[in-house]
Amino acid sequence: MTAFDRIQDRLEGVQPRGNTASARCPAHDDHKASLSISRARDFHGVVLHCHACRDVDKVLAALKLTRRDLFDNPHDQQRGYTVEAEYPYDDESGRVMYVKERRYPKDFRQYIPLADGSRQCEARLVSCRFHMGCISGMSAA
Ligand SMILES: [Zn+2]
Repeated sequence: MTAFDRIQDRLEGVQPRGNTASARCPAHDDHKASLSISRARDFHGVVLHCHACRDVDKVLAALKLTRRDLFDNPHDQQRGYTVEAEYPYDDESGRVMYVKERRYPKDFRQYIPLADGSRQCEARLVSCRFHMGCISGMSAA
């Protein structure tokens, strides 16, 4: 289930319009569907906006959801980022040397895919001890 569906399921008076929808805002007494729900363009998730209260956190609290639930895969938000794209870099024999990851919020990281399907953070080649982003990335592999 995508975040777009999950959030609409909890709302009342939903009026779907393709990749967006409007609904009554659950954070206050709303008579005219002030809440807009849109599929996010920059990550796999949803953008919420209330034209009346403009308070996303209040809306989420009323729905008993957190900011994590704005992502299609809440685990992504636990890590603090989503992977938008991966760019493999091959050597001359066609073997993948490393993969560059484009993340949201905007960031680029590289890793080396290992034969067993796990990945080695490129920073680990230098020193991975204090590289928290690497450690959380490793546990997700
Ligand atoms: Zn509102």
